Amino acid sequence: MGVSRMSVARSYDVAVIGLGAMGAAALYQLAKRGVKAVGIDRFSPPHDQGSTHGETRITRQAIGEGAVYVPLALRSNEIWEELEAETGERLLTRNGCLIVEAVNSVSNGVVRAAFLDRTKQAAKAYGIPHDMLDAAEIRRRYPQFTPREDEIGYFEPGGGYLNPERCVGVQLERARALGAAAELGTRVLSVSPDGNGVRIITDRGELLAGQVIVSAGAWAPSLLGEPFKRLLTPSRQVMHWFEVDPDYAEHWSKSPVFIWSHGPSPNDFFYGFPSLSGTNAIKTAGEQYDAFVHPDEIERAVTPAESDAMRAEHLSGRVQGLRRQALRAATCLYTMTSDSNFLIDRHPESDRILVVSPCSGHGFKHSAAIGEVAAQWVLDGKTGIDVSAFALSRFKIAA
Ligand SMILES: Cc1cc2nc3c(=O)[nH]c(=O)nc-3n(C[C@H](O)[C@H](O)[C@H](O)COP(=O)(O)OP(=O)(O)OC[C@H]3O[C@@H](n4cnc5c(N)ncnc54)[C@H](O)[C@@H]3O)c2cc1C
Repeated sequence: MGVSRMSVARSYDVAVIGLGAMGAAALYQLAKRGVKAVGIDRFSPPHDQGSTHGETRITRQAIGEGAVYVPLALRSNEIWEELEAETGERLLTRNGCLIVEAVNSVSNGVVRAAFLDRTKQAAKAYGIPHDMLDAAEIRRRYPQFTPREDEIGYFEPGGGYLNPERCVGVQLERARALGAAAELGTRVLSVSPDGNGVRIITDRGELLAGQVIVSAGAWAPSLLGEPFKRLLTPSRQVMHWFEVDPDYAEHWSKSPVFIWSHGPSPNDFFYGFPSLSGTNAIKTAGEQYDAFVHPDEIERAVTPAESDAMRAEHLSGRVQGLRRQALRAATCLYTMTSDSNFLIDRHPESDRILVVSPCSGHGFKHSAAIGEVAAQWVLDGKTGIDVSAFALSRFKIAA
């Protein structure tokens, strides 16, 4: 349906487009500062169509993707804990994080090259408590893991997991309680600078905003066009849930989260979680970078062969006490940059549009602080945490 240009558009100081991990956090932070803000989402978050579903997300403090991320992770934990205290909800569980990798391993894709070693360096730089474990000690502490003799572990007791659906839900509930508006089930069709503001055309009418934060996840490239179309690549990911054998039930219920790089390719990587209370199943996943998709065209169904491949390529011989067949599986979306780092910057064509998304498959743990950074950026013109490493200028974007 066409929208009449004559209709009176609703007007806000700041609009947030996309209310997933990043957008929910940004809207909450704007509302906390008393800004007249609106959040818009084509679905009704939390939902299972984007990048922020599946019960759990790993969080760590020493960030092997680069020490530049550490302040975002630490600040995010403070915000999750503040929200927990305010709402009584459990968002963050610090059950520890174990990273396993071969000694002196150097390569596992761009962002995770020498991941364990870089994690250790970040821990040292920021004084983050951790233990280094040899293979025998990993097996002794955690009989569910059977590393090779040449593999070692970095264990961080302050790591653990977040509940992504509740993190998004709680921030949206708090944002609305603090006065933010939310337009759900509303798809943004275009965003364009207009006089002293930005005009947002949706499938349910027009809005005007002084500034806009675009946190549209895997849809950001199609919504924003170039140069983002070239820079951001969505890919289909699969999460699998495997039932735990009764003999291993206690080990898996007390397990740390784990991240395991077992070869030089980016695909030689998997991670997983403990069995959550009442489920008797663990979630585990590898990563796939070779199937680029438009988020509206993604194959959502997962075949049994995909779960069989997860077992054969990653779980077999490394983790113990899981039943053979996957109980269920689900798809989710990564949206990668070419260097696997984040992209947080002004739109090259308008200072009034801040692009805050997506975060290349490792963004959730940082999302609460990224929301705060986004709010500071649009309101104060500067941010408490330095995010210049995520600038657009690091890419060659000339036509
Ligand atoms: C399987 C998987 C495992 C992961 N594991 C981890 C982990 O362990 N630790 C970690 O830190 N990170 C992890 N990540 C990454 C993390 O989850 C993402 O970085 C983060 O969730 C991205 O959030 P987002 O807000 O950018 O996207 P989303 O949460 O997808 O939000 C985008 C929102 O924009 C809305 N939208 C899009 N287009 C429009 C439009 N035109 N109009 C209106 N609304 C629109 C969508 O409906 C959606 O709600 C994982 C990701 C996946 C897929």
